Amino acid sequence: MEINRISVWQLDLPLHKPYWLSGGRLKFEQLDSTILRIDTDEGVSGWGEGCPWGVTYLPAFGKGIRAGIDELATLLIGKDPRQLDAINRIMDLALPGHPYVKSAIDMACWDIAGKSANLPLCELLGSREPAPVPIASSVSTGSPQEMLDEVQRFRDQGYRVHSCKVGADVALDIERINLLAANERAGEIMFYDANRAWLPREAITVLNSITGVSSWFEQPCETLDEIAQVRRHTSCPIGVDEGLHTMEDLIRIQRDGIAELVNIKINRVGGLTRARRMRDFCLATGITMLIMDTGGTVLADTAVAHFAQTIPAPSCLGVWSCQDMVSVDPAPGQGARNVDGCF
Ligand code: MG
Repeated sequence: MEINRISVWQLDLPLHKPYWLSGGRLKFEQLDSTILRIDTDEGVSGWGEGCPWGVTYLPAFGKGIRAGIDELATLLIGKDPRQLDAINRIMDLALPGHPYVKSAIDMACWDIAGKSANLPLCELLGSREPAPVPIASSVSTGSPQEMLDEVQRFRDQGYRVHSCKVGADVALDIERINLLAANERAGEIMFYDANRAWLPREAITVLNSITGVSSWFEQPCETLDEIAQVRRHTSCPIGVDEGLHTMEDLIRIQRDGIAELVNIKINRVGGLTRARRMRDFCLATGITMLIMDTGGTVLADTAVAHFAQTIPAPSCLGVWSCQDMVSVDPAPGQGARNVDGCF
């Protein structure tokens, strides 16, 4: 089987409502998604999507994906899309780094591999765990009461995992977290996600001011060095999200005991092939996972849902459904859909 055509579309994804991270530091109203289709000489086609969360969240942007695909596409014509490691080696040799550029291509190749093997992606990736995968809510930063009200709206839709965005105002963050933690219900998992907003001393102050919280603190500071510093001064469980780009990052997180949880975002780490290696390392070393993409439609969410479905429940706390936050659906009625807060 050989790739004989790669087609690319740009798709604007307006959010249903503006969204703030890190106490208002990052505001988003529309995402720029890239949809890609790979065709083969045997008539099997695969779809992929790459969608950064705006241009300011990570070193990634929509036009960059399309420019990168333009660099890589001609090198992939004639290659077998089912040989994922070979496809990734070709991309890495031609364009070192730029993992977010390669994710949509990798995703489309996995789609072709699954279709040609007549297997759902999760089974091709190694397992179909029996339990539905919980979707984590995404609670925009606001006043403590606004955030609690938002958590309640998600509860009413069946969610039991909540990712509450904090950061930038230490006193207010302590108030926010204490109110949310006091109202946490049995069986719920709460994440307090600072999206890199705190300095180490601010994170240490917040984490040591919260009483009775068994919840997770995600990406409290910008760098792994800073998070390692926080780790030494608190017993709260910590997650790394934006600080995980490469396998080297993951090895360091495990070796130095920086975090107990990582958020593997498929687009950020360079696709399902790399995400799968990270998954296996986490399973081998006891690191808990969240599985997400950086944004997108049902297409990206479906890859996420299948990938997360391969991980035994105790090791995967949840996923995220970006499709529920955007007002465009390119594949109505198809793919993974939110059913009572789960995929
Ligand atoms: Mg996060």
